[in-house]
Amino acid sequence: MQLSNTPIESIQFKNRHFFLKRDDLLHPEFSGNKARKFYYFLDNDFPNTTKLIAYGSPQANSLYSFSALAKLKKWSLDFYVDHIPNYLKHHPIGNYAAALNNGAQIIPIAKERNSMSMTDYIEQYIMPYENQAIFVPEGGRCQYAEPGVKILANEILHWAEKQQLSDLKICLPSGTGTTALYLQKNLPFPVFSCACVGSSVYLKQQFFELSKNESHHPIILSTDKKYHFGKLYPQFYRIWQELKRETGIEFELLYDPLGWLSLLNYLEQHQDTSPVLYIHQGGLLGNQSMLPRYQRKFPD
Ligand SMILES: *Cc1c(COP(=O)(O)O)cnc(C)c1O
Repeated sequence: MQLSNTPIESIQFKNRHFFLKRDDLLHPEFSGNKARKFYYFLDNDFPNTTKLIAYGSPQANSLYSFSALAKLKKWSLDFYVDHIPNYLKHHPIGNYAAALNNGAQIIPIAKERNSMSMTDYIEQYIMPYENQAIFVPEGGRCQYAEPGVKILANEILHWAEKQQLSDLKICLPSGTGTTALYLQKNLPFPVFSCACVGSSVYLKQQFFELSKNESHHPIILSTDKKYHFGKLYPQFYRIWQELKRETGIEFELLYDPLGWLSLLNYLEQHQDTSPVLYIHQGGLLGNQSMLPRYQRKFPD
């Protein structure tokens, strides 16, 4: 399977020019940053593997991407979650529905694991009985993510050389920070990110877990207001709608609103006019469940 070189487009947003890396267009069934992060598993042979094991939220973008990967590799997928909300079980949509459709087994273990961490529980109580399985930590936070993200970095580098952009800045929102860190490690441009899951301090810790070398760490942008992951904010919905109206492009609803708010905030505060490349990291299937929540909460 060929994961193609995604286009870089020019967009205007709030009277400013941005370049946009369209990683949402990578491949219909395997796109965005999860496809970059899981590329290693696609590209290598694992003769003794028949199953993929992972965990996270039953609505996570990673759940769908793991299910797509498993399907491509002809593996089964056991995806552990704490619990599956009743409404979702009865009305499957978005990442959850698509993952089920790809044959994923989604297994709730809140009771079994009790106060143990997901990772500890899986490593101690599941993996010893699974000798043909690969276990990938949450969201693909591991060194296996680097080869795929490095390909993304090289695409950006070649493009920037052609365009003769030497003072480029890169921006993308972070969950685990894996994509942003491996980009910074493999690019000569400053990479800016923001912490969508947890605090900036937590994101910095995640960076340290992936690399002790601080020159690999992206610059963390912050906003005045504190936002909690997965919660609905009028500012988020507004900027998502503005992006759609002004650029014609649909962005993701969990990460991109904070990504854009932090970036605009930074550019304004620093009166920075240098060229910026924003990375669209896909995940649009998740909007199927997020958008109705927003529409119910903030009817126009
Ligand atoms: C998973 C995801 C992220 C976070 O990626 P990390 O590598 O964990 O920082 C950001 N945006 C989208 C759309 C995602 O699906």
